[in-house]
Formats: sequence, structure tokens, C-alpha cells
Amino acid sequence: LTADYRARDAAHHIHAFSDMKALNAEGSRVIVRAEGSWIYDSDGNRILDGMAGLWCVNIGHGRKEIADAIQRQMADLSYYNTFFKTTHPPAIALSETLARLAPPQFNHVFYVGSGSEANDTVIRMVRHYWASLGKPGKSVIIARNNAYHGSTMGGASLGGMKSMHSQGGLPIPGIHHIAQPYWFGEGGDATPEEFGVQAARELEKAIEAIGEENIGAFIAEPIQGAGGVIIPPSTYWPEIARILKDREILLVADEVITGFGRTGNWFGSETFGIAADLMPIAKGLSSGYLPIGGVMVSDKVSDVLIGPGGEFHHGFTYGAHPVAAAAALENLRIIEDEKLVDRVRDDIGPYLQAGWKALGEHPLVGEARMTGLMGALELVPNKPSRQQKFPDTGKVGTIARDFSFKNGLVMRAVRDSLILSPPLTLSHDEADQLLAIAKTTLDDTYAEVKRLG
Ligand code: PLP
Repeated sequence: LTADYRARDAAHHIHAFSDMKALNAEGSRVIVRAEGSWIYDSDGNRILDGMAGLWCVNIGHGRKEIADAIQRQMADLSYYNTFFKTTHPPAIALSETLARLAPPQFNHVFYVGSGSEANDTVIRMVRHYWASLGKPGKSVIIARNNAYHGSTMGGASLGGMKSMHSQGGLPIPGIHHIAQPYWFGEGGDATPEEFGVQAARELEKAIEAIGEENIGAFIAEPIQGAGGVIIPPSTYWPEIARILKDREILLVADEVITGFGRTGNWFGSETFGIAADLMPIAKGLSSGYLPIGGVMVSDKVSDVLIGPGGEFHHGFTYGAHPVAAAAALENLRIIEDEKLVDRVRDDIGPYLQAGWKALGEHPLVGEARMTGLMGALELVPNKPSRQQKFPDTGKVGTIARDFSFKNGLVMRAVRDSLILSPPLTLSHDEADQLLAIAKTTLDDTYAEVKRLG
């Protein structure tokens, strides 16, 4: 059966972010079923989903409550939109719930279908906001190297992935990138605290060079996810706040990964004390059961968009899709009822973090970091040196990722690091299994690195 699936897949399917030559040589992995923290492949293997899909299945896979909510909504109203002054009950209830759960300045939401669309919407909203205030020149958005904000032209432009830019003639004009607060990889001889301030001051330098009158917003993920779980030093976000204070520049916190409990609070902004003006959300909003995203809009911005801004000529057919909204509502109910955010902050988060930190003792690991349930292991050739890297960047990371999958745990490789972001429902027993597989994976990779010389 697997061979048949693989042949048919290879014949017609171009995969996202996959080396198709390697995929066709090895055959794709066919996932046929998932439940809780586990996925099952077509050979009957059970694999612990250490990435919660793509950082999104916060409540775990296969929850019947969500399937039921979807079915009920399908029967009542399977599709309608919220264009042209219409609305429907799931959009009303979801907006109300989001306004209650989000930081207090957020009382409005604009719906989209994905995180990428949310970030494209941010670009248009920022420009529309400043133009509505008579300052159309404030159109530049400052973003960061190695950030990930999606795959659309706007999202990939805001993102700082060189590999994406080079394939697409990106970024689009008006996007400027500054340093990321990646102490382990780029901190030189500075302490993390010193480096956090240095990295933040790149924003101040960019503002001085470009001119505040030309800048509409600064966008950043509270923790850079796809860039390698770059947890900023404690000094970074306070310094950003100091720089933006009294300046006319909107702050956009991309909460697509860090929202909905991932960092031990409802939003990563709360974990780091970020007072954002706009907040793109997706992924954990519906735990990936159906595609839905949004931009949470602060009172400061909504006062303009709803007032002098007039009609916002922007929207997506599937924006506030009623069935996706119903799935999101049920997902948020589960996160609240099962106290998953508290659980990440006070229980499973600290438990997994302790075991993860212990993996930092392994001879292959230069740093083991984790906030909430979002972590990375930096693999290094010459511990304790953090500045010496493997020569062929990405090779050892990929070897480790493949061992991990073979050993029964999905982790992602970013450069030569391993990334983890399991469901927030992970049990203690599953955390123990996860840590044991991660340890075996490090041993296997270490032996292979030795063998390869
Ligand atoms: N923003 C962040 C921080 C992300 O991590 C992602 C996806 O990984 C996106 C935006 C794009 O979301 P989507 O894949 O739903 O378009």
C-alpha cells in the first residue's frame, strides 16, 4: 500500500518546502491517521508528533468535539461571508471570544484564511491606517532577518528567509530587514543581555537611517519560530519598547505560532510584555482543524479604520468561514475548559523544559532552550565552543531529524538545530517518551558525525 501511495504521490504532487528529487528517490512519508499527540503512517508506525503538525495542533489530533462542532455548523450554515455588511453567528461569537482572550487593547478582529493572508493584510492595513491619517508616506515596514511571516508575496517579503527571497525576486519594495536577536548564533562575545540590547538597537539605527516619517510599522514574532525558535534575551523586548515609545510607528506582533498558549500565556506578547498595535493570528486559533486566521486590531488602529479610514477595500472569500469559525470557537472552548494555557505555564511546560535542559549536557548539544512548549537544541561540533559551526550547514541537522523520525518522534531541523513544538495536551508520560527518543537521536547522530569524521 505504501509503495502504491508513494508512486501516485510522486506522479502528481509538488510538495511545499521539499527537495523533490530526494523525496522521489526516498518516497514520501504517508500519514494516514492521528490521535492525541500521535500520528500513524501507512506502514502502521506510531510517531510522536513533536511539532503539533506545523506548530498548530495545540489541543492534539482527532478531537471528536471539534468534528461534532464542524458537523453541526455544516448543517446550519456551511458557507456565508461577512462582506457587504453581512455576518453570521459563528463570526459574532468568535470575535467576542477573541476580544475577551486577547490583551486588553485588542477589541476587533479582521478574518483571513491563513497566517500568510494575515500578514498580507497587515501590510495593507498599516498603509491604509497611515494614509487615513494623512501620512501616506509612512509605508515602510521594518522586519527581521530569518523571520517567517508566510509564503505569499507579502508574507515572504516580510519574512527574512534569503532562500525565499532569491527564488521570488523579493522582498517587494518598502520592506527593510534588521538583525534578529539570535544570541547563540550571532552574539559574538557579548552576554545574552548585552546582545539583546545590541540587536534591538538595530531598529533604532534603521529608523534613523530611513526616517520615522517613512516608516509605518515594525513586525516581529515574539519568539522567531521557523527561523529556529530564537528566544530573545530578556533585554530585547524592553529595549524595543523604549525605542518605539513616543515614536509614530506601529508594532506588529506576529502571534501565528506564539498565540493560543504555546508560550504559557494566551499570547507570546504577554510572556514578553509586548504592547502591540496589530496581532496576526492563525494556526492555534483552530488548532489546524480547519484553515482560519485573523488580524487582531487594537483600539488605536480600529478607531481609525472604523472612523476616518472609511471602507477597507480588502477581504477573502473564506475570511470568516462559518465552519472554520465554529471549529475555532470549539477549539478555544477546549483550551479554556482544559486550562491548557495554565498547564503549559505551570505543569507540562516546566516539566518538559527540565528534561530538555538536561539534554544540553549531551556532547553534541551547545544549547538547549525552551519557553512554554517551544524549544530548540543547537548541535555543535566542538562543545563548549558556541561559535564553531559544522562546515556544511544543515547536514547534521538533517541527519538528526531523520534519526528522530526513525526513532518515533517528529522534530524539525533548522540549520544544525532540532526544533520541538508538541501539542499542549502532551502528557507527562509522553514527555518522558519524547525526551528518551530525543536522547537516543542525539546518541545516534553523535555516532554518525564521528563516523563521517
Ligand atoms: N507567521 C508565522 C510566525 C508563521 O510561523 C507562519 C507559518 O508557519 C505564518 C505566519 C504563515 O502562516 P500560514 O502557513 O498559515 O500561511
